[in-house]
Amino acid sequence: MSDLVIVNEAQCQNLVTRADAFKAVEDVFCAMSKGEAYNFPVVREAIGYADALYGFKSGFDKTGKVLGVKAGGYWPGNVEKGLTNHQSSVCLFDPDTGELSAIVAGNYLTAVRTAASSAVSIAHLARKDSKVLGMVGAGHQSTFQVRAAVEQRDFEKIVAWNPHPEMLPRLAELARELKVDFEAVDQQRLGREADVIITITSAFEPLLMRDWIKPGTHLACMGTDTKGKMEVDAELLARATVFTDEIAQSISIGESQHAIQKGLITEDQITPIGDVIKGDHLGRSSEDEVTLFDGTGVGLQDLAVASVAARLALQAEDALKITL
Ligand code: NAD
Repeated sequence: MSDLVIVNEAQCQNLVTRADAFKAVEDVFCAMSKGEAYNFPVVREAIGYADALYGFKSGFDKTGKVLGVKAGGYWPGNVEKGLTNHQSSVCLFDPDTGELSAIVAGNYLTAVRTAASSAVSIAHLARKDSKVLGMVGAGHQSTFQVRAAVEQRDFEKIVAWNPHPEMLPRLAELARELKVDFEAVDQQRLGREADVIITITSAFEPLLMRDWIKPGTHLACMGTDTKGKMEVDAELLARATVFTDEIAQSISIGESQHAIQKGLITEDQITPIGDVIKGDHLGRSSEDEVTLFDGTGVGLQDLAVASVAARLALQAEDALKITL
């Protein structure tokens, strides 16, 4: 007999902090780099109903002993129902026996692990003296991104641009809460002023061009997670030293897909961020280097934070447990 723990959205939000997510994501990137954690092939299908995209991301982390699958996708009509469009849930299994050990709500965890991923890239790649954070994107993920980013450097100001400017007040409000200056700017000015830029949109065309970026900038490109999506000019990516969570995803569904297709870079020019975390790669090599993190979002990140949620829930007295 084994115990199955069930963790809902509210519990995940109460239990898993940004610091927990940062450590879980950093650790699993390192395990991936050591060859001790693997993502299995991703399934993503249009289900022919409700315009929904549905799929599975799964993997196994031998170091953390985390085996599982995140199931979910995108339901564009959800906003009208008062729900977020992205919906997901994680199932974890005992890697020694295959028994189901946890069912964990995945919506908050997806946002917090995605923000942790760009934060890990800022921690390891951005210049230490970065003062201005540039935000391209103002949707659901954007506030999670800002909260995680400001914990990595002493940002004094946020400059932001979004294809839909009416969404920017949510970032202005957050900046007020965080006591950081805020200014809505055009894309060129954002490129001129920002030391670190996060892109987190659903764009299919470049929003930032090569020559708008100043030397020494670090970019975390987080929105491109599907074939055809694109947030920055392929020439900009080719100008940068490129890091990623996983090379296979980076060249197929990530921001690097376009520069690869155009022959501007080759796969061997992209470095897994885990190599930097474990000390095999220097990361940034000069103050003028442009670094770019292609954060495609891997299943192992979801499993890592879900396993933290399940562990903390089991320690809490109000955990919902079922004996199988
Ligand atoms: P959202 O729907 O809340 O916000 C969408 C954002 O994209 C807004 O800034 C909006 O102005 C912009 N946008 C919408 N349509 C656009 C278009 N045609 N061209 C340019 N910009 C457009 O979405 P969200 O939850 O904030 O997610 C943003 C993006 O991040 C999505 O593309 C999502 O798939 C991606 N995402 C990536 C990861 C990862 O791990 N890399 C994780 C979660 C979400």
